[in-house]
Amino acid sequence: MPELPELELVVKTMREHALGRTILAVVLNPKRAFVIRHPLEDFARELTGRKLVAVDRRGKFVIFGFAGEALHLVINAMLGGRFALASRAAPELPSTCFTLQFDRALDFRFLDSTMGARIYLTDSPESDVPSFGELGPDALDPALTYDVFAARLKRHRGEIKNVLRNQVFVAGIGNAYSDEILFAARIRPLRRTSTLSDDERRALYAAMRSVLQDSVATVQQQYAGKHHPLHKQDRSFMKIHARSKSVCPRCGHRISSIHSGGESTYYCRECQR
Ligand SMILES: [Zn+2]
Repeated sequence: MPELPELELVVKTMREHALGRTILAVVLNPKRAFVIRHPLEDFARELTGRKLVAVDRRGKFVIFGFAGEALHLVINAMLGGRFALASRAAPELPSTCFTLQFDRALDFRFLDSTMGARIYLTDSPESDVPSFGELGPDALDPALTYDVFAARLKRHRGEIKNVLRNQVFVAGIGNAYSDEILFAARIRPLRRTSTLSDDERRALYAAMRSVLQDSVATVQQQYAGKHHPLHKQDRSFMKIHARSKSVCPRCGHRISSIHSGGESTYYCRECQR
């Protein structure tokens, strides 16, 4: 699932290449267009001729804004949604759901192998996009100071990994980066938030900021270095998530994992408390 760092790359790349361009046509893949939560004929008609003037991210939502009357294309990529920017001549990628054909032969393609993504077209995301209106502050929002973070943490009880992934608590963090943040903070994923000491809360906040900021930079370097295109995720830089066959890079202990509900959590039993 793309999380804050991957979606930041999408926003940056779209701003660099597609801002100010006009959508000449919308191409739907009839087998996969059901990820679009909007009447399909209207979706294509309402977007055609629109000029892209804003690309933003809120939590794990990517939002395109257009010139003229208010209209927002809101993308929730969920588990398998991926983004691609390509020249029109580039071969079609498997699992393309729809393509926005911009002027000067630039294609924005949205792909989804698991078909769980949700795409909305609305003049009011707060009221029309489920859970959008309840999003907490973005994990990298400068206004999310330690004091704000700690106050929110007091109101969200439960296992710390679940709280970190709760978009109402803080937006942008999912299964993978919550593992990385908890590893950096040396806190076990199943710890209850009520048991965290003041030092641990501070370590958690610092880890959230540093892990996400470093990962944003790493993901952008990967793309700039063409190690992988926009639609591929290369998370080989991660220290603990999905590294069950490795040892802890900090203490050398075997990495532990918990599998439940189709998701996996990774941590070090030795140096996370
Ligand atoms: Zn360790």
